[in-house]
Amino acid sequence: MGSSNDPCNPETASTPVEPQAMPAFAYLEQLNAGHERFLRGHSRHPHSSAQRLQQLVKGQHPGVAILSCSDSRVPLELLFDAGFGDLFVVRNAGNTSTSATIASLEYGVQALGISLLLVMGHEGCGAVTAACQPHGTLTPKLAELVLTIRGGLDEVDASGDLASAFRHNPIQAARHLVLGSELLRNRIDQGELLIESACYTLARGEIEWLGCLDSAGGLHPTHARLGGGLR
Ligand SMILES: [Zn+2]
Repeated sequence: MGSSNDPCNPETASTPVEPQAMPAFAYLEQLNAGHERFLRGHSRHPHSSAQRLQQLVKGQHPGVAILSCSDSRVPLELLFDAGFGDLFVVRNAGNTSTSATIASLEYGVQALGISLLLVMGHEGCGAVTAACQPHGTLTPKLAELVLTIRGGLDEVDASGDLASAFRHNPIQAARHLVLGSELLRNRIDQGELLIESACYTLARGEIEWLGCLDSAGGLHPTHARLGGGLR
């Protein structure tokens, strides 16, 4: 995925990466294709060379932003078979929509021209588990983060069942991103931004696509909009 520049070609090794400006759905299909390669054991590990790094020295033009959990079992570049300069990533415990999260993603959309924003949670998330089944003592900052997650799950009555909570958490985080950012809402309404939610299933290593958000926070099936192109 990423630029059409071939980092293996010496003639393009020092050529700066140019913006691709593909439609958001094309980026989503690219992510899905990279994940399919990962699942089949056919990862190409693109854009991982020293030449690629040189191409990126003067600037980055990632087409995709991802908000995900800090969990070490969810390495995004490996899961999507992507490389340097492909993914603009924000990670924190529970892929939580905080002020810093929103500001970072607004930068990605406004300054970098990103058109696809993926919010991805995962099964077995410790932060979501702490929000649903509190035990032990949390530091004040961690308690604040967990309370934010809990509040989002309470909104949809999804805090009573962990399996349900793992899937609702990224949807709620995406919803809070949308409702917390006028810029993101405007870009969605203008057809310039797609915000998709997903959940990574640890045992199977598969990503479950959960749907995309409209500017009012409503969830819509991605499959229908992609013509069944996703798993
Ligand atoms: Zn997690």
